[in-house]
Amino acid sequence: MQLVPAILQGAGPARRRALAKAITLLESTRADHRAQADALLTTLLPHTGRSLRLGISGVPGVGKSTFIEALGLFLIERGHRVAVLAVDPSSTVSGGSILGDKTRMERLSMDERAYIRPSPSSGTLGGVAEKTREALLVCEAAGYDVVIVETVGVGQSETAVAGMTDMYCLLQLPNAGDDLQAIKKGVMELADLVLINKADIDPAAATRAQAQITSSLRLLGLHHRPDHVAHDPAQWQAQVLPLSALKGEGIERFWAAVSSFKASQEARGRFAEKRRQQSLAWMWERIRADLEHRFQHAPAVQAVLSETTERVLQGQLAPSTAARELLTRFLGDPSHA
Ligand code: GDP
Repeated sequence: MQLVPAILQGAGPARRRALAKAITLLESTRADHRAQADALLTTLLPHTGRSLRLGISGVPGVGKSTFIEALGLFLIERGHRVAVLAVDPSSTVSGGSILGDKTRMERLSMDERAYIRPSPSSGTLGGVAEKTREALLVCEAAGYDVVIVETVGVGQSETAVAGMTDMYCLLQLPNAGDDLQAIKKGVMELADLVLINKADIDPAAATRAQAQITSSLRLLGLHHRPDHVAHDPAQWQAQVLPLSALKGEGIERFWAAVSSFKASQEARGRFAEKRRQQSLAWMWERIRADLEHRFQHAPAVQAVLSETTERVLQGQLAPSTAARELLTRFLGDPSHA
C-alpha cells in the first residue's frame, strides 16, 4: 500500500488503516523507520494545519472519555471528522496505558468518521509528546478537522498538551478541593476553558464551583504564561461552563465557546501566531533533548561525569564551573558528532 496517497485520498477504512500504519512508523525507534517517518512528514506537511487542535485534560475519573465520546459523536453528526490522540506519561512507567483502554469510547471508535489512538508508550514525556505531535499532523493530512489530544492531570503532560493544541480545556469536578489542586499545580492557568463535569449530580455545587473558578481565573489571568501556550488575557478571559458528559448536557454550549474562542483568536492573528510559536518551541525542545542525550553518552563526558557530580554534591566544585568543564570536554570530543 502506498501510504501517502492512501492518507491523502484513500476512501473509508483504507484511509484509516494507512493512518494507523503511518503513526506506527512514527512511533518506531528503528533508525531506518525514523528516516522513512521524516520523509513521510515532509511530504505530508503541506496538507497539515487544517484542523482545530483541542487539548482535553483532567484527573482520572473526571469524565474525559465520556466527554470525548459525547463530543465526538456530536461533531461527526455535524459533518466533522474527529481524531482522538492521547499523551499519557504513566504508560511509560506502568507499561500499560491508562488512556489506552478506549473500549469506553466504543461508539465513537466504531464510527468511520472517527479515529482513536492510545498514547505512545515508550520513552520520556518529551518523546511521547513528540510522537503525539507528529501523529496530530498525520491526522490532519488524513482529513480529520478536529483533533482532540487527551491527557491525565499528572506530571508535566498538561504543559506538553497545551503546547501542541490551539485550545486547552480542563475538566474539573464540582468541589473546591479539586479546584485548589489544579491552581496549586499551575494547571489552571494553562486553561482556555474550564468545564465543571458531572453537573447533573449536584447542579447547585456545579454553579458554586463555576463562580469560584471564574474568580480564581480572573486573578490567574494576571500571570505570565510561556508564549507557545499563552492566550492573551486581555482578549480572552477563560470561560467556565457546567457540563454533564454522561447526559450530553452542555456539549453544544461548549462547542459554541470553542468556535467563539477560535474566531476571536483568528481576528487578532493570534491563532496562526500561536502555532508558529509552538512549532519553534517544539524544534528547540527536541534540540535540547537530543543534545542532552548526546552529552550524557559522550565518552569524554562519561569518563568524568560521576566524579564531577560527586564534587558538586560535596560542595567542592561550583555547579557553573562543573558545567563549563564538562561542556569543554564534550565539545572537544569528536565522537559525539
Ligand atoms: P476519565 O477517567 O476521565 O476518562 O473518566 P470516565 O469518562 O471514564 O468517567 C469516569 C466515571 O464517571 C464513569 O463511571 C462515567 O460514567 C462517570 N461520568 C462521566 N461523566 C459524568 C457525568 O457527567 N455525570 C455523571 N453522573 N457521571 C459521569
